[in-house]
Amino acid sequence: MPLMRGMKQNKVLIVYTGGTIGMVQDENGSLHPFALDRIYDAVPQLRACSYDIDSVTLDRIIDSSNMTPDLWADIARIIEREYDHYDGFVVLHGTDTMAYTASALSFMFKNLGKPVVLTGSQLPLGMLRSDGRENIICALEIASGRLATIPEVCIFFESHLYRGNRSTKMNAENFDAFESYNYPSLAKVGINISFKEHLFMPMPTEPLQVRTNFDTRVAVLKLFPGIGEGVVRSLLGAPDLQGVVVETYGSGNAPTDDWFISALEDAISRGVIVLNVTQCKAGAVKMRQYAASCDMDRIGVVGAGDITIEAAVTKMMYLLGNYPGDKEHVKLRLSQSLRGEITE
Ligand code: ASP
Repeated sequence: MPLMRGMKQNKVLIVYTGGTIGMVQDENGSLHPFALDRIYDAVPQLRACSYDIDSVTLDRIIDSSNMTPDLWADIARIIEREYDHYDGFVVLHGTDTMAYTASALSFMFKNLGKPVVLTGSQLPLGMLRSDGRENIICALEIASGRLATIPEVCIFFESHLYRGNRSTKMNAENFDAFESYNYPSLAKVGINISFKEHLFMPMPTEPLQVRTNFDTRVAVLKLFPGIGEGVVRSLLGAPDLQGVVVETYGSGNAPTDDWFISALEDAISRGVIVLNVTQCKAGAVKMRQYAASCDMDRIGVVGAGDITIEAAVTKMMYLLGNYPGDKEHVKLRLSQSLRGEITE
């Protein structure tokens, strides 16, 4: 759907998936999604922008709690189909799972040479104090490529542009809802947009490749003091489980009890990949830094460095989906950076 058409040089495609940014309140005060035309009506400033804007809406607009790998594939296919026709892409998305979608898209796009900027808002665009107007205008400006070409999947929120697979939603109330704890923001919006080009992914020399397979037979095991053997064994024994992300303490530490190590070892011997990600927001897993991670290292648990939980889960699903039957390759890639999600 063409939204703003002129004779302008740069072109941006909006992919609208739903979320608070496009919601209205019903008579009971509950929020429901509405059509993209209303978003455009709510941001009349866009009439003055210096690039053309088109839009595509997913078949069903959703609260992002209903996001699925199939919908990630739909978003990726739209961008792949339109890749040569636009300078950049803005994905309007609910904030709740935005960091998962941004991570998933980053893995799906190999050799991405154009900006894909996800944004949304904490208050619906139709409300007077909505943060959505600022977010959408800045995301479009950045995606237009007029000022800089960022060859990455990013999240723009409340004056910061973050690498998508480094981002986390950390606040359910503030406009400043996202953070990238282990990698600096790629740009900061004030009177000017100041881009930190030295932090961007390198411009690819090969054409874009898109892979849309995900294997969802994965689980997350979050440790806490007192966690019981029954819970751990029942999760690790889930039928057909292919991979598990263990959310450990500090720099990748876990209980050293025999039952815990042997539960992990049993799972690994059945072919389950076990990935060690820290519960800490910042910092990295360092296997063997403490005795409390030596046994995990010995039995073949993979350390995931300073990856976010969102990137770890989506990366595991992506690698299992695209390299079925090659667990050694999946393990190797999990320990390395694919799209800048791990500091190496
Ligand atoms: N529940 C909403 C969603 O993620 C929240 C938001 O958009 O901020 O779709």
